[in-house]
Amino acid sequence: MTRLIFLGPPGAGKGTQAIKLAQACGLAHISTGDMLRASVAQNTPLGEKAKGYMDRGELVPDALILDMVRERLSQPDTKSGWILDGFPRNVNQAGFLDQLLAEIKQGCDRVVNLDVPDDVLIARLVLRGQQQGRSDDNEETIRRRLQVYRDQTAPLIDYYTQRQQLVVVDGDQPMQEVTAQLQKVIED
Ligand code: ADP
Repeated sequence: MTRLIFLGPPGAGKGTQAIKLAQACGLAHISTGDMLRASVAQNTPLGEKAKGYMDRGELVPDALILDMVRERLSQPDTKSGWILDGFPRNVNQAGFLDQLLAEIKQGCDRVVNLDVPDDVLIARLVLRGQQQGRSDDNEETIRRRLQVYRDQTAPLIDYYTQRQQLVVVDGDQPMQEVTAQLQKVIED
């Protein structure tokens, strides 16, 4: 049973790789960012609350995220395994996930940190902003997201290293190469 968490800064390629691997391995791809963007697009109450935070590059408050994840992990397609992409994103969310997984009697095998230098991240995100028109992919918000990543998400690297769950993959390589290395992590 494969259950993975993808950590890594914005622009590291978590989403791209998670989609590919989930498809190849029959896993549910759970992206909190995608779920939030869908809520914003549909003008749901959650979307309306989340939009301002997302546009500023801040984390959406945990209270909004945790129910969403609990609900998602109760859906039947998660039974054959999953990849969590963009969650947890701070220590409080990681603690919540530990509790939730204990409750639903699931474990998480590995936490992958996709490592990419800042200058490469910024270049990728600026390009994505131009190509896809994502409203948080402008330079000011990108810098804020990187800062938020360093302050709030990067501490999870220690959190999972201490539990001996962390695997680091170099995300600054050709896409197929990254996919191949991630596939090895799954097979190990
Ligand atoms: P990226 O990794 O490029 O920042 P995401 O799609 O993962 O893209 O996230 C986009 C935005 O959605 C974040 O900047 C944040 O506002 C919000 N978001 C996504 N996941 C979470 C989460 N687990 N907790 C809080 N906010 C989140």
